Amino acid sequence: MDEIRISDLVVFANHGVFQEEAVLGQKFLVSAVIETDIRKPGRSDSLDNTINYGEVSQEITRFLTENRFQLIEACAEQLAEYLLLKYETLMKRITLEIKKPWAPVRLPLDTVSVKITRGWHTVYIALGSNMGDKDAYLEFGVEELKKLPQIRIDQVSSFIRTEPYGYTDQDVFLNGACKVRTTFTPEELLDEMQRIELEAKRVRKIHWGPRTLDLDLLFYDQEIIATERLNVPHPDMANRDFVLKPMAELSPWWGHPVTHKTMAQMLAELEQRSADK
Ligand code: ATP
Ligand code: CA
Ligand code: CA
Repeated sequence: MDEIRISDLVVFANHGVFQEEAVLGQKFLVSAVIETDIRKPGRSDSLDNTINYGEVSQEITRFLTENRFQLIEACAEQLAEYLLLKYETLMKRITLEIKKPWAPVRLPLDTVSVKITRGWHTVYIALGSNMGDKDAYLEFGVEELKKLPQIRIDQVSSFIRTEPYGYTDQDVFLNGACKVRTTFTPEELLDEMQRIELEAKRVRKIHWGPRTLDLDLLFYDQEIIATERLNVPHPDMANRDFVLKPMAELSPWWGHPVTHKTMAQMLAELEQRSADK
């Protein structure tokens, strides 16, 4: 990806753990490597299609002088998020380095610094409900995700009805999926999804029983994650038409990072297997 670079922008600000740092202030040096597509502005020679580095330098200076943090870790983290949300379409990723040349460590050193890379991630989330006003629950799920500044909903699939199998005394399911861009990590996103599931239950004050709203993280970029809390890509999707149909509608050419099969291909194979039975 193309890059715009800002090196060692000097900002005088009041971050630090010590009282003296808050009172006296000190020098910080900020460097940014912004990943963005330079093809368009490169061809058009117009500022409209690019990230104005003068404006970004002003934003960095303003953010670091108007806020006060104890840690340069917090400066970097919150500044990166601020910039990613402000330039949500043009800025794909940012690497920020904040140096503290006057760090009060009472030893001779050049600088101490932190350096982080943050960016937007492409994510697919499955939505399911089999109780009460199912359309309303799925809509509620989408709306609650949309409320979060760290999430942009790009596309929502049609909602499809699926007959339950196995437990036949369950109500029919309504399923869908959405394509989302987010600055959240997978764990942070799962936290938000689980909070929204809980809130959907609270809406009707229903305890347990069939699900009002189920949100599953299907894909997070092309990452493969296996932890206690998270399996990504979501397991068993190869056998679930209620996952593959919405996925094939949203992104038929999206590839599964383990099998490298596209969504359209996985759905076709599942339908073939059911037809063969
Ligand atoms: P399934 O995951 O087979 O569709 P389910 O949705 O009914 O079953 P839940 O009871 O909603 O399962 O979730 C159980 C646990 O699954 C959650 O607490 C969560 O930590 C874990 N989990 C693992 N991977 C994922 C994922 N990709 N998305 C959501 N939850 C996940
Ligand atoms: Ca599920
Ligand atoms: Ca779930």
